[in-house]
Amino acid sequence: MKMLHRHIAFACLALLLALLTACSREEPVHHIQLLTFGTIVDVTLYGVEADRARQVFAAVEEDFKNMHAAWHAWKPGPLARVNELLATGEAFSAPPSVLPLIVRSQELARRSGGLFNPAIGRLLALWGFQSDERPPGPPPAPDAIAALVAARPSMDDLIVDGVTVRSTNPAVRLDFGAMAKGYGVDLVIDHLRQMGIQNAIVNAGGNLRAIGRRGDRPWRIGIRNPRGPGIIASVEVQDDESVITSGDYERYFEYEGVRYHHILDPRTGYPTQGVAAVTVIHDNATEADVASTALLIAGVERWHETARALGIKQVMLITSDGTIHMSPAMAERIRFETEQPPHVIRSDPL
Ligand code: ADP
Ligand code: MG
Repeated sequence: MKMLHRHIAFACLALLLALLTACSREEPVHHIQLLTFGTIVDVTLYGVEADRARQVFAAVEEDFKNMHAAWHAWKPGPLARVNELLATGEAFSAPPSVLPLIVRSQELARRSGGLFNPAIGRLLALWGFQSDERPPGPPPAPDAIAALVAARPSMDDLIVDGVTVRSTNPAVRLDFGAMAKGYGVDLVIDHLRQMGIQNAIVNAGGNLRAIGRRGDRPWRIGIRNPRGPGIIASVEVQDDESVITSGDYERYFEYEGVRYHHILDPRTGYPTQGVAAVTVIHDNATEADVASTALLIAGVERWHETARALGIKQVMLITSDGTIHMSPAMAERIRFETEQPPHVIRSDPL
């Protein structure tokens, strides 16, 4: 009998110790924040040891540094060189860091009906958005804007033959700002998988892709309120999904009471008006990034047809006065986090 008591006492002690160790063990979540790529990049890993996380973070930081240098739209580097050579009209061999973006964006620009147009670098420079500083305003002279629009720079002006590229229009100047964060996030997710990481979020300033889960639950993603502090809604994601938001609040200046932001309508040469933010959920970040920009330009009238053309099913569009348009597939997943439920208009299915 005494033996049995002692056994029970031992078993209890062992259980207690096991419980204590489990409680004191930190949750296997590791997080790093990098200031790179013109934005704040957050990377979160679940389920790896601290040493491994450190190695992985170092590799990811290196990736972002390299992409930042390769795709910078106005500092010297591979993309700046490509832009110089495009302006000559001569054929040249494109750097391997830039060629895939040219090819991919040609197809996506076409599908967006030209609303996503990375050939409008000159217009972006004219507006002062190719700069580390916020442009002070005023807006550029209307004549100067009209001249650049009339030159009709388009991705279709680029002739790609193997690795050789030339431009048939000297007005083309590439700026991949609307796609580079998504594209970069996709590359980093591929790299994480190659390194054996199965549960992670890579978030480049509101452009994120999540793989796996956060332990026994999905990842929970907040969507920023475009007209106030904090988040407007949240959504759960798992396995592999991208949640990407474009907004008129990322970079802008105000002049005489009008907001001039960094997303330009290539048809007019002016920043769009009427839409504050667009969030897209899709399986890859590149297409979601392109789509969020294109749908913001398409606006309330045309976002639905543009989403269809781009093969996007989950969209939330917030107008400047706070009305929310959503596809049914998005509405099923979104949870509003505001005190008052916003005014929501559900669209036909995409
Ligand atoms: P964010 O995540 O910063 O809101 P977006 O993905 O919407 O960014 O991209 C905005 C950037 O895209 C601008 O800073 C500019 O470099 C570029 N851009 C602006 N208008 C267009 C356009 N019509 N087509 C392609 N790129 C654009
Ligand atoms: Mg974008």
